Order: sequence, then structure tokens, then C-alpha cells
Amino acid sequence: MKNDLLKICSLFATDSPSILPRSLAHRFIGGKKYTTVKLTSIHCGYFKLDGGAMFGIVPKRMWGKMNPPDENNLCTWALRALLVETGDRKILIDTGIGNKQDEKFRSHFEPREEGAMFASLATAGVSRDDITDVFLTHLHFDHCGGALWKNEAGEVELSFPNAVYWSNEPHFDWAMNPNAREKASFLKENFVPLFERNRLRFLEVKDNIEFVKNFHVRFFNGHTEALMAPLLRTPQGSVLYCADAMPSRWHIGMPYIMAYDIRPLVTLEEKARMLEEAVRGQYILFFEHDPGAACGTVREDETGRIVLDRTGALKELIGG
Ligand SMILES: [Zn+2]
Repeated sequence: MKNDLLKICSLFATDSPSILPRSLAHRFIGGKKYTTVKLTSIHCGYFKLDGGAMFGIVPKRMWGKMNPPDENNLCTWALRALLVETGDRKILIDTGIGNKQDEKFRSHFEPREEGAMFASLATAGVSRDDITDVFLTHLHFDHCGGALWKNEAGEVELSFPNAVYWSNEPHFDWAMNPNAREKASFLKENFVPLFERNRLRFLEVKDNIEFVKNFHVRFFNGHTEALMAPLLRTPQGSVLYCADAMPSRWHIGMPYIMAYDIRPLVTLEEKARMLEEAVRGQYILFFEHDPGAACGTVREDETGRIVLDRTGALKELIGG
């Protein structure tokens, strides 16, 4: 069964860019042709994680001022997805935690406002049925938990019944056979049902692959195996959905690497490379977990260090 699925998946992945209809609206900016890409930040609630785990080797004396912890040393983090509308595709990048976890889980991570995902999509004029693709950057619970939803009858159903759900094969295998450090993050109830219902598709692991027009994918191996970070090209600028390669504006600083990361020195290299590229390309960085700033830009200071420049909501920074 798995082999069959893989075959379908690779077919789908290879053919993916050509699935878009030829009749797509195009815009011409500066002589360059762009497919119209509309981006909307989607609020999927908040949760809490230990400040020490999120800031790694950085002393509490420093991070405590940035994101003040509660009496249990837990800091509040956002769950921020991104809606990408292009052609006839409505793609949701990540889904937050969802609502199906038990009280023990909830007491550890204190999720709240999980239903905001649907409300936020509705505000953008998009219903659950409209979503064509759910792009899962990786399968840790705070990124894919909302792919499935517990309904009022207590049954778990697909959050987006008409969507295909995207991961990649090395990452899926990694999540199915987790190491002891990541085991608590890979909850099988979040992704095995997607596989069993034949809704999961795998993207080829090839850096900068074009998923759909103007939607490229960058791969990162520091946080987990083959994390996928979308790079979206719009006429107003490029937006990098950083996912956990850089979860907040504070993680721009080189020593700020999460203790969760499986390969911290790889994160260090990947982050340095990503930030240099972001300066050159004037990228808007989209932060999935930053509780206060959805997006930020970076610049090189007088000493050559890359630092945070501006922060703001996506619509404030795009084209600004
Ligand atoms: Zn995360």
C-alpha cells in the first residue's frame, strides 16, 4: 500500500506546478511575469512552551525580558498559519494544534483560541470546504494538530474535507519512527489518519522546488529532518514562512537556537545562510510562533551583523 501511495505522491508532486490552469491571471511588474498570489495571516490561537527550551543556551536574564514567562517558566507563543491563494488553489500552510488533545496534554501546553483558525479563514472569505491544499512544514503537533478536528459529536474528522495534505517522505518516515527527544512532538493521531485516508502527499525533497507557481520550498535539517519552509514570490516582495527554522523575531540572533533542535550546529549554518539571503532579497520573514510580531525584515548593521530591522503585520510590511 505504501509503495502505491508513494508512486501517486511522486506523480502528484512532479505534476503539481502544471496542475494550475493556463487561464491564471498574470500581472506584469517591471517586465516580469507574476501569477497573482494573495497572502493572509491566519490566527490559530496560542500555546505555552518552556522559555528555556525555546531559547536554548541564552540565559533567562536575557530572554525573560523579551518574552516574560509565567510562574512555571512557560512563555506564550502564537500559532500562526498562512493562507496562500493563487489561481484556483487555496493553500493553508500549517494548522496550529487543533482541539482533539486530552486534558493532560492541555495542562502541559495550555492551548487557547484553537477555533480561531476557522474564524480567521472565514474573515478572509474562505470556508473549510474551499481549502485545496494543506502544506505541513513538519509533523510536530503545533504545526499539524489542526489538520484533523474533533466535531461536536466527539468524532475526529478532516479539518479541510476537500484538501490534499502535503509532507515529504523522509520527514514522514522520521515522524513514524521518532527518536526519544522528538517522540513527544510527533503524535501519531495527528498524521497517521491523513495517511490512512489516502489524503497525504509527499513533495520531492529538492531544495527550492516549485510547489506551485511562485511558491518555492526551502528544506532545513537543523530543527528536524527535512522541514519545509515556503518562499512566496509576490509582486510586492518575497515572503519566507520560516516555521521552526526561525520561530520568532528573537531567534534572528545566532545563539538563539531552540533546545528542541536535533542538530543545533546545522541550525546555526542554515540560519546564517537564510539571513544573508533575506538581506539580499529583502525578504519579509513570517514568524509562526512570535506572540507579538507576525513578520519582520532584516538588515546588516555597521559591524556586518544581521539584525532585525522592521516588524509588523504582514499587510504592513508587504510592499512597504
Ligand atoms: Zn513549532
